[in-house]
Amino acid sequence: MSTAVVVGSGPNGLTAAVMLARAGVAVRVVEAADRIGGGARTEALLRPDVLHDTCSAVHPLGAGSPAFTALRLDEFGLRWRLPELDCAHPLDDGRTAVLARSVHDTAAGLGVDAETWRDMIGGLADDFDDIADDVLGPLIGVPSHPIRLAGFGLRALYPATALARVFRDDATRALFAGVAAHAFTRLDRPGSSAAGLMLLAAGHRHGWPVAQGGSEAIIGALAAALIDANGTITTGVRVTSIDEVEPADVVVLDVMPGAAAEILGDRVPQRRSRRLARYPHGPAAFKVDYLIDGGVGWSDPDCARAGTVHLGGDIGQIADAEADAVAGRMPSRPFTLVAQQWVADPTRAAGNAKPLWAYAHVPHGYTGDATEAVTAQIERFAPGFRNRIIDSVSSSPAQLQHRNPNLVGGDIGGGRNDLRHLLARPRLSADPYATGAPGVFLCSSATPPGGGVHGMCGYRAAQSALRYLSR
Ligand SMILES: Cc1cc2nc3c(=O)[nH]c(=O)nc-3n(C[C@H](O)[C@H](O)[C@H](O)COP(=O)(O)OP(=O)(O)OC[C@H]3O[C@@H](n4cnc5c(N)ncnc54)[C@H](O)[C@@H]3O)c2cc1C
Repeated sequence: MSTAVVVGSGPNGLTAAVMLARAGVAVRVVEAADRIGGGARTEALLRPDVLHDTCSAVHPLGAGSPAFTALRLDEFGLRWRLPELDCAHPLDDGRTAVLARSVHDTAAGLGVDAETWRDMIGGLADDFDDIADDVLGPLIGVPSHPIRLAGFGLRALYPATALARVFRDDATRALFAGVAAHAFTRLDRPGSSAAGLMLLAAGHRHGWPVAQGGSEAIIGALAAALIDANGTITTGVRVTSIDEVEPADVVVLDVMPGAAAEILGDRVPQRRSRRLARYPHGPAAFKVDYLIDGGVGWSDPDCARAGTVHLGGDIGQIADAEADAVAGRMPSRPFTLVAQQWVADPTRAAGNAKPLWAYAHVPHGYTGDATEAVTAQIERFAPGFRNRIIDSVSSSPAQLQHRNPNLVGGDIGGGRNDLRHLLARPRLSADPYATGAPGVFLCSSATPPGGGVHGMCGYRAAQSALRYLSR
């Protein structure tokens, strides 16, 4: 029987582990933290009966992930819960652009842009399930649906600020920019439409759900699937050298490229090792978890019906804030994401006490306190919000990295998301999961398709490892 060690128990590490275990490999997962889950964890941060998602909250790509579907996580307890509206984007003039589940309902709210939304975003949503396998993997290779993929790829290459010009209304442009900003990159650069188009297409097909009971339920299902396939997990062990995990026929690393270079030492050629060590990271998240009384108190009631709310104003303001964060300047009004999980999953609240999840895009390694900037962005569209805060706890980029070494400088996207690193992640190759050390593979979000709880990096890395084992 072949053996494998997976280093790191984030969604990608566990997905790789389940894939290998189900293929008959004896799998051992080793995790540095005292709890498994990496970027998908849930904790009672502020009072025992209210659960906060400490990292990921909303999962359009998780619900539409070919990996999670293949692993049949529903059989291991995972339930997605959908909010009434997927996303709301309020503007200073009092209007709110709304992303509803259906293309039709969304378009109906977008006035002059209804037809363009239906044609462009609706078309991609129709194709999502066919192209997901191609776009959620290395972008060089032989696609299974080349024509549909070309339709996505040509648009994805545009800067988000340029593609948004197909819309005539500021509100639609802002809605598009807010979703594109999930990429943590300059919105006026080629390739910056890619993440937004994927999230919109996935959302119209599968919604923007939360996991019932907390994001850690995704990890619970993956762990149960692993145990069911006879895999084992050890926590509290940080791997610093490949020698610590051998002997094993394959090793799969759910770590960032810089850490992989350290772990592998001279097992990889020097040139490759230097490139791994120099892998560039993007801007950071500054997270604030609030416990609030009743609800946020949004000016527009549509915001209260949405699972996710994007705060950043119009497209120009969002693009400027993103450019500042990329350039290392703290934006005066950083782009801020808010999730209200209780809208989809009422079990998250304890009566009127509700867990509000928020983070702002700040410069890489930002050392200041952005709590007030996050609160001010919410207050901007919900006057009086401050009075509803019962308690809050903030996590700086350094604290995020302290809890999970993969969040280098607070980068939650697994590396820079410019066009070059969308294509070459961590390097340009048909098999970017192979590290160059025989039998050692990288499966973290520094590999295609990048950040997000979807397990696709682990799924592809496991396929690569299984090909190696069957040679
Ligand atoms: C604040 C925040 C908000 C987010 N919001 C969302 C969201 O709403 N939706 C979404 O889809 N995604 C979101 N993400 C991103 C998502 O969490 C990540 O993209 C995803 O978790 C990446 O999975 P992974 O398995 O590659 O790595 P991780 O989840 O980071 O897991 C890596 C694991 O490996 C362990 N590890 C690292 N080095 C070692 C070592 N040397 N030895 C042993 N163990 C090691 C770490 O402790 C960690 O447990 C968010 C992330 C953060 C931090």
